[in-house]
Amino acid sequence: MPYIADQETVAFVQSLPKTETHLHTDGALPMALLRQAFPGKFVEDPPMWADDFRYTSFDHFMELIGHYVAPFFDSPDRFHAAAQQVLSDCKNQGCRYVETSIHLPALQYAGLDLDEVVAAVRSAKPEGMELRFFVGMSHDAYTGRGQELIDQALLHPGIDGFDLHAEEYKPMEPWTERIWAEARANGKFTKAHAGEFMPASFVTWCLDHLKVNRIEHGVRSIEDPELVRRLVAEGVTLDVCPISNVKLAVAGVPDMPSHPIRPLFDAGVRVTVNSDDPFMFGNTLSEDYYALMQDLRFTKREIIQLVRNGWDVALMDEAAKAPHYAELDRIEATLPADD
Ligand SMILES: [Zn+2]
Repeated sequence: MPYIADQETVAFVQSLPKTETHLHTDGALPMALLRQAFPGKFVEDPPMWADDFRYTSFDHFMELIGHYVAPFFDSPDRFHAAAQQVLSDCKNQGCRYVETSIHLPALQYAGLDLDEVVAAVRSAKPEGMELRFFVGMSHDAYTGRGQELIDQALLHPGIDGFDLHAEEYKPMEPWTERIWAEARANGKFTKAHAGEFMPASFVTWCLDHLKVNRIEHGVRSIEDPELVRRLVAEGVTLDVCPISNVKLAVAGVPDMPSHPIRPLFDAGVRVTVNSDDPFMFGNTLSEDYYALMQDLRFTKREIIQLVRNGWDVALMDEAAKAPHYAELDRIEATLPADD
């Protein structure tokens, strides 16, 4: 990190019509916008961008979010400006389908209106990209203004889905199961962050209680072979973010060559590749693919399969997905037998 790839690899990854199904708008804040908003304050590159940087804990990550990112998002206009740049960066990397989330408690702290922020992010979508907009909430968010925001989000036509965010170690509260069920009843897609800082048992809990079939991260599932078999049998998808996991020093991921995405993929679990919070990790989606090719020996055919997995779970009808699958098939057909 940063992953420098040879020209052929760069061109290959760029050519693939990709998806990004785990991307936080706020954690992707473009540096240029931050510097513009606070002249003279963020002159140095953030320490998190250094190759050998490791967060000491998730609280450390939250502390740096509070330092760099949270103060920026104080108006719908800033959400719009950030989303516009973030989504255009995705598009420039060959990404055509994005699921992005914002953190609902951040609106609470900044005193922002949900309608305005939803409109600000949605209107930032570039031509030729499919965007699905998620809101995420903390384990203890259903109180006071937070409760009002969640109740409003449940009925909001501009919100495509719900996600569970923030400190994974905080206990789950009884409201969560009802809200996840209600979100689905209202036509929202549901997923949850799990198996990043908490063990495999929390992934199991989310499958059993929140009834999700998409887990954000979920890499610690590897600790429980029974769970890995269940993920395969039930077709659960893990939206994995390799560089994020290394920099956050997730248990079992001291470095990229140890990343469990390799054994999870080999076991037949449907995994996708994503960038999570590019500002907070100094990564790009393309670099996450380079990392898998360089450090985990993913072949080009396997990379194409990972990209297909993203389209498999994209919230689009099959007819709209067909041209993207066809393009991947065409690229695969050009590969030599041993690639
Ligand atoms: Zn995430």
